[in-house]
Amino acid sequence: MKCLECETELDTLDAAHLSACCGLTVQEYALRHGFPLEMLVSPDACDRVEDEADWPASPHQGSRTALITWSALQTAGSVREGGGWQWIPGEIRMLDSLLWLQEQLHSLGFDFRQEYTTAGNSHRIVARNCLKRPPEKTPEVAFADMSEVERRDYAAIVLARAALRRDEYVFIQAPKSENLESLCQWLMSALDIDISHLDALDERHYVRTTSPDDTRRLIEGLLPQLRQIPGQEERLYEEGMRATIVKEQGIDAAHFITDHPGACANLHGGHYSVHFKIHDRIDPSTGFVMDYADLKRIVKSRIIEVLDHHTLNYAAPELTWRSSTEFLAIWMWERLIDYLPSLRELEIHETQTSYCQYRGPTLEEYRKVGPQSLLRHFQDTDLGLRRKREGKAPPLRVINQSE
Ligand SMILES: [Zn+2]
Repeated sequence: MKCLECETELDTLDAAHLSACCGLTVQEYALRHGFPLEMLVSPDACDRVEDEADWPASPHQGSRTALITWSALQTAGSVREGGGWQWIPGEIRMLDSLLWLQEQLHSLGFDFRQEYTTAGNSHRIVARNCLKRPPEKTPEVAFADMSEVERRDYAAIVLARAALRRDEYVFIQAPKSENLESLCQWLMSALDIDISHLDALDERHYVRTTSPDDTRRLIEGLLPQLRQIPGQEERLYEEGMRATIVKEQGIDAAHFITDHPGACANLHGGHYSVHFKIHDRIDPSTGFVMDYADLKRIVKSRIIEVLDHHTLNYAAPELTWRSSTEFLAIWMWERLIDYLPSLRELEIHETQTSYCQYRGPTLEEYRKVGPQSLLRHFQDTDLGLRRKREGKAPPLRVINQSE
């Protein structure tokens, strides 16, 4: 087989040749030249069980840099354990970022692997990139014990592994931990930013910058450290190409319209088709505006689980009087905007010929104006009291009640 990088005829084109010839991994070579991995990786090279005895002796003390990096990876929820190994996964598009981590973690015995597997139902050879080692107990450095310089390095690694950009906001999705809490406190004081803690979704802890100004101060405050990690400035800071993606979700629900002159006054069932439209930058590290699966996960837990197979009028007090598509749209917007600041439009189809389009406030506007009073006429605590104060409470005529 001829290597398309150096034009040499070879018996086998393997990782050792590519590394020496062009610095590419087998997976990158396959992606560059449009080959399926099956053409470059033999079935024998798949699902190999590596011998732990080949690994350098443990335990590793680890340099201070390695321990800070290790602690950041723990906070970010990046360390996996299973099958007799401890490993830190990485995607091929961000390989340089993973190799940078390997340098930091070298003294803890972590080594880079590109492994090939036919496991699962993929029906093809799949490559996985990771840093791995036999399991060891390496203690985490408590945030309180880190110097200011170490805290900045640690913060940048947590962002590199657990943060993502949505619109003008940075979200951190990571397991709840003491170090994460301390990190948030420190970011607030050291970089003068405000951080919002959102309700967890699917047991994932959600933290986000409160405003676009906070995002700018966060990223620019840590830019020297982020620049040390390949690809992170591009991923979290730079502007780029934008696109709109749409996820459609169905909702089966009953509802009625109070005081309606037609049949809609009756309790009746229906199927709603809701189009959630997201406009944002295409993340260069994923090639997505947002993974449709992530969008679905947020919509499911914030909207679908509350409304589907329920009577809309009783699923939320804001909808009890009027469960119109217009009110539904505003209600959905208010439930989503904290998690999806790049939400641009909702389209709710009630029948094949009737639908509502709604564009609500941006997250920044919403933070200023708050929830819409339009939906909350009956929640106004002054509604009856005002009448009572003015002596205008409706006279109560009791019929059919014996004296
Ligand atoms: Zn070559």
